[in-house]
Amino acid sequence: MNTERAAVTLCGVRKAFGSVTAVAGVDLEVYDGEFFAMLGPSGSGKTTVLRLIAGFERPTEGTVHLGGRDVTGLAPFERDANTVFQDYALFPHMNVLANVEYGLKVKKVPKAERRRRAREALATVRLDGYERRRPGQLSGGQRQRVALARALVNRPKVLLLDEPLGALDLKLREEMQVELKSIQRQVGITFLFVTHDQQEALTMSDRIAVFNAGRIEQVGTPAEVYERPASAFVAGFVGTSNLIAGAVAEKLLGRDGVYSVRPEKIRVLAGADLSADVSGEEHSATGTVADVVYAGAATRFVVDLDVGGRLVALQQNLWTSSMDVLELRHERVRLAWRREHEFPIDVAGGD
Ligand code: ATP
Repeated sequence: MNTERAAVTLCGVRKAFGSVTAVAGVDLEVYDGEFFAMLGPSGSGKTTVLRLIAGFERPTEGTVHLGGRDVTGLAPFERDANTVFQDYALFPHMNVLANVEYGLKVKKVPKAERRRRAREALATVRLDGYERRRPGQLSGGQRQRVALARALVNRPKVLLLDEPLGALDLKLREEMQVELKSIQRQVGITFLFVTHDQQEALTMSDRIAVFNAGRIEQVGTPAEVYERPASAFVAGFVGTSNLIAGAVAEKLLGRDGVYSVRPEKIRVLAGADLSADVSGEEHSATGTVADVVYAGAATRFVVDLDVGGRLVALQQNLWTSSMDVLELRHERVRLAWRREHEFPIDVAGGD
């Protein structure tokens, strides 16, 4: 990966608004053609980083490079990047075609060419035939596509997307996740998007940067970030955190430190299986089920361990019905997981 040219490079970027430090020192390299997510809770600085890359904000310290060029002091229109905003910012009085053509018109691209490119962009987002509609006559998902076409028509090197699917309902959101990814593959532009939704980041991205309090805690592929979280924060924010620490770690795992085990890696043994031997490759712990959350395809068990602490286990409802699993509330169970699924966590943070 590091032989590839960087589409976006941030070096020592800090941004303060008066006494508020929104970005507290960020170094980041996004590669050409990547689908890259900036993931983090509200207020962690991801939108500010996006705006710094777009040029809507200037860093208090540090530099921004796009395609190897220092753009730190340049205005947004001087940068080879376009932004798709969460509210889409479409012109309500213009039809779809005029909305998509707008940027090219400003750049004085001749009419025939801009019309051709706008139609091409609309075809990419599968909106051919909608040219004459106004934004108000479109669904949320269609408006989102118009906003995307309006950015793509400029053929930027980098497309910046601020919570691009935030305004859509869950089902449409899931459809657009797949769609956005396939459009990105088709056009080959670097997509850099902001989200607070970990599932969305895991589903769509080639790599993810996890933000916390104005810093990046970890950068990695979805599998790296999910399976090998670099810090307790990442473990908790990306997926459900099951931390085994201190005296509990010593009793259960025979060693000191902090470890994370993902809920879906934990088996729940109940009834006759409770006293069954677990394999030598597994660790196990007995406890009492504090809560059972039935969610259709899977069930989440919250278990208070006898040695102290609490673990969450997620089981697919392969054989069980809702009645079976709900009956386990307040029952004794044994939890078992393979040792290879215990990951040490750096409690000091990932920096
Ligand atoms: P969200 O998901 O809620 O958009 P975020 O991770 O994108 O959050 P930012 O919008 O980057 O976070 O904000 C980071 C911090 O900087 C917050 O504390 C925010 O209040 C502050 N901040 C952002 N923009 C400004 C501004 N123009 N003036 C003052 N403070 C700001």
